[in-house]
Amino acid sequence: MAKLTAGESPRVREDVVRRHVPCNLCGSQVRQPYCPENGLGLVQCGNCGFVYVSPRPDAEELYALYGETYFHNNESGVVGYSNYIKDEPNIRRTSQRRLKHLEQFIQPGKLLDVGCATGFFIDEASKRGWQVEGLDVSSFSVRYAQEHFGLTTYHGSLTSLNFEAGAYDAVTMWDVIEHVPDPAAYVRRAAELLRSGGVISLATPDIDSLPARLAGRRWVGYKLSEEHVYYFSVQSLTRMLNDTGFDVVNVRHIGKYVPLSLFRDRLGMYFPWLAKALQVGEKALGLSEWAVYINPFDIVQVTARKR
Ligand SMILES: [Zn+2]
Repeated sequence: MAKLTAGESPRVREDVVRRHVPCNLCGSQVRQPYCPENGLGLVQCGNCGFVYVSPRPDAEELYALYGETYFHNNESGVVGYSNYIKDEPNIRRTSQRRLKHLEQFIQPGKLLDVGCATGFFIDEASKRGWQVEGLDVSSFSVRYAQEHFGLTTYHGSLTSLNFEAGAYDAVTMWDVIEHVPDPAAYVRRAAELLRSGGVISLATPDIDSLPARLAGRRWVGYKLSEEHVYYFSVQSLTRMLNDTGFDVVNVRHIGKYVPLSLFRDRLGMYFPWLAKALQVGEKALGLSEWAVYINPFDIVQVTARKR
């Protein structure tokens, strides 16, 4: 098993070739800079308004970000997670909440989790009666899910792996669609794999959310440079789902359980003095291991049914 060591944050090299890409939603090549003051190379489609990164590195370079250090590094404010594994109890609690919500629209059956990471979500789903499979571009996390929980997980992207068409009742993608080079192809592929009446549920940062608009260039969604190549809104995600054979059945903004310390770190990006005060309070009261459910109302979950 791979030894866990906190390493350098993974990132795309400066000298990598970057090319312009057409709008993934409507195919237009017309674009203008979007929020240029954050320096991330964001553009907005001149035709449909979709926001994305262009020019940008090719798919191989983007996927290369998700090695072991993605799930364990020193600079999670920039890319990846400081220690995904250590956060397991919170991820499992968050997963239970999401599963309860999903089961309002579809009974437990065959589920494919795209971007399954270390398998905490599908392991919880399996406890609730789902037959689960997962895939991830991180070989480390796929192996971790197999070795620790005996889960069926595959290494690769949704568009490169073979699955049986029409065989799944549910496909989930948590914080995935904004990372992939061709999100429309992912959603089309999910439609192929789902049976008629099957359900897709996705979560992604919402660029049109009130917190995103209020924070402007300081929005935490923008902090994750290079990782996030697409910035969805409810409107663009709904259009993509409609175009690929889905009807949206639910839209809501969701949070997650986080350790108090992470909550403090993120708070520090906006209010350093408040974070400092909280840190002092945590130590005094011994609250460092506590978890809180935080809903910043800037992550949108959209659930849609295949026609
Ligand atoms: Zn467009």
